Amino acid sequence: MPGETVEDALAAASRLRERSIETVFTYLGENVTDRTEAAAVTRHYLGVIDRVGACQLDTELSVKLTQLGLDIDPALSYENLTQIIVHAGQRMVWIDMEASPYVEATLDLYRRARQAHSNVGVCLQAYLYRTANDLESLLPMGAAIRLVKGAYREPADRAFPRKRDVDKNYWALARRLLSPEARRARVRAAMATHDRRLIARITDYVRAQGIDRQSLEFQMLYGIEAAHQIRLAQEGWKVRVLITYGSCWFPWYMRRLAERPANAWFVLRSLFSA
Ligand SMILES: Cc1cc2nc3c(=O)[nH]c(=O)nc-3n(C[C@H](O)[C@H](O)[C@H](O)COP(=O)(O)OP(=O)(O)OC[C@H]3O[C@@H](n4cnc5c(N)ncnc54)[C@H](O)[C@@H]3O)c2cc1C
Repeated sequence: MPGETVEDALAAASRLRERSIETVFTYLGENVTDRTEAAAVTRHYLGVIDRVGACQLDTELSVKLTQLGLDIDPALSYENLTQIIVHAGQRMVWIDMEASPYVEATLDLYRRARQAHSNVGVCLQAYLYRTANDLESLLPMGAAIRLVKGAYREPADRAFPRKRDVDKNYWALARRLLSPEARRARVRAAMATHDRRLIARITDYVRAQGIDRQSLEFQMLYGIEAAHQIRLAQEGWKVRVLITYGSCWFPWYMRRLAERPANAWFVLRSLFSA
């Protein structure tokens, strides 16, 4: 995180912009159980849209439906999401994908939102067995899809337990996102990974197939593989960096740690290589 406040995120976004890297903002928090808190998060995002507009940044947003009230009532989270999407105008609003019990509800709400608004995208996780089918069902809609490996600890009956199978599935899904059918449907393909091997495979593939490099983008987290982000942007690839901010980072980090102990190594490594 560049800092806890929106100002910190805006300053970081302006610095990245100088390097031809655009950004996505996300406000820390999830699993809100109180309607007034979900309303406050929604108001926060409406204010952020005004702030990025005033700074003339091409910053997009990424929201968690459980932070907008999904656990309280899916209709409430949809209402809050819609307010954000409408206020965002042309700006893309991405929906994060949370743990597997939320996938069905998230995709239902995404499909509803996408039918009414073009500026909404969703994240799909390559570690889930179901994702290949979900992707097939979303392609004809011309959806905006951010492909990730997946960050939660999931049971073996829902997700590939071995990393190498997750990577293999990611590669298969990435190619599908770049297929002629997907491009004809005007799918927005966002490859959200720091995996250098995968990124190299994707860029080689795009070159070999003669695909316009503007028809995909790479998304990464703020501060991770920063030099690689700059290099890709310099080579003419679209790069967008997700900036997380907010004050609830300690409980959030502890949950991430409980879900996936390997995250501790990532954090330590990024601290020492900064
Ligand atoms: C823009 C963006 C949005 C995301 N949204 C979601 C979402 O909505 N739902 C979801 O489940 N997951 C989300 N993720 C997280 C994702 O699922 C992975 O957990 C995360 O990106 C690590 O996987 P990787 O693809 O980078 O590959 P890995 O194989 O895990 O990592 C490749 C290499 O990248 C480096 N690296 C990766 N992560 C870190 C880190 N945290 N700190 C330091 N180095 C690191 C390491 O060098 C590592 O060897 C998102 C990721 C990004 C980039």
